[in-house]
Amino acid sequence: TTKKTIDDKTVVKEYFNATGFERWRNIYGEGKVNKVQLDIRQGHQQTIDTVVSWLKDDGNLSQLSICDAGCGVGSLTLPLAQEGATVYASDISAKMVGEAAERIKQVMKNPRNIRLGVQDLESIRGSYDTVICLDVLIHYPTEDAAKMINHLSSLTKSRLILSFAPKTFFLTLLKRIGEFFPGPSKTTRAYQHKEEDIVKILQDNGFQIKRTGMTSTSFYYSRILEAVR
Ligand code: SAM
Repeated sequence: TTKKTIDDKTVVKEYFNATGFERWRNIYGEGKVNKVQLDIRQGHQQTIDTVVSWLKDDGNLSQLSICDAGCGVGSLTLPLAQEGATVYASDISAKMVGEAAERIKQVMKNPRNIRLGVQDLESIRGSYDTVICLDVLIHYPTEDAAKMINHLSSLTKSRLILSFAPKTFFLTLLKRIGEFFPGPSKTTRAYQHKEEDIVKILQDNGFQIKRTGMTSTSFYYSRILEAVR
């Protein structure tokens, strides 16, 4: 497993520093994209909006330290920082972090409450009120996702928010069909996770589930769990 994790990680890192960077920068942007990418863009934005609205509803965002693990181009970091949260955002891909820095610079004058880093989430250190990891676990099989969740759990005092592609009969079928008709712009391998597996890992780390969300558009599926201690 350890060797395989390294392989998955290497592949993912290389992908998000090359073709994956171009693809996802566009999807997570505002420029012209194809219909499938537009659907994914809108789905992803819904996931971001759900998490931001949960945190805003709590009414204490400006007092929180937040770790955004696998921050991508900063889609979540930016709105949270604009609400006054202190955010440590990091990603395994230097290119994604570079893009995040650009986007932050464009909209925030003096973003003193954001710290950016290029690092694998398993090497993040520190202690945060809330740790958030959105749409990252899709890149790893469940046994590796478990190790990642264990590590992220050790970084938070009270709350961990995760999103992942749920493994359901319907989505497994859809994925099979997709694999049967491989298109030209295939992305990296996508791993789905059973919700009960993820919940069990969270419970083993002393969490219970508070709020849940589900984003489903035509091509984007993401289950969101807020786990609290
Ligand atoms: N969380 C961001 C969001 O929702 O906008 C980005 C999601 S994107 C689908 C997945 C991101 O996870 C990529 O930026 C990728 O480089 C990053 N990533 C993948 N494996 C990682 C790891 N082991 N540690 C840190 N980041 C990782």
